[in-house]
Amino acid sequence: MQTDDELIWPCQYCGAENTVWVDLTVGGKQDFVEDCRICCRPNRIIIKIDNEENIFVESRITDE
Ligand SMILES: [Zn+2]
Repeated sequence: MQTDDELIWPCQYCGAENTVWVDLTVGGKQDFVEDCRICCRPNRIIIKIDNEENIFVESRITDE
């Protein structure tokens, strides 16, 4: 079983692709803020892992 994975998320401000390592052992839902490596703006990253271990990643504009 995989314990971590590298996911790609698009920056919501400049469109650049960023990668983030995710700890899959946490399970459920993860919600945190990551800065874009290109424009340095904060994106809210939401990761969901379902019961079949499918991983969904979503990036959103932060409210700040
Ligand atoms: Zn960006």
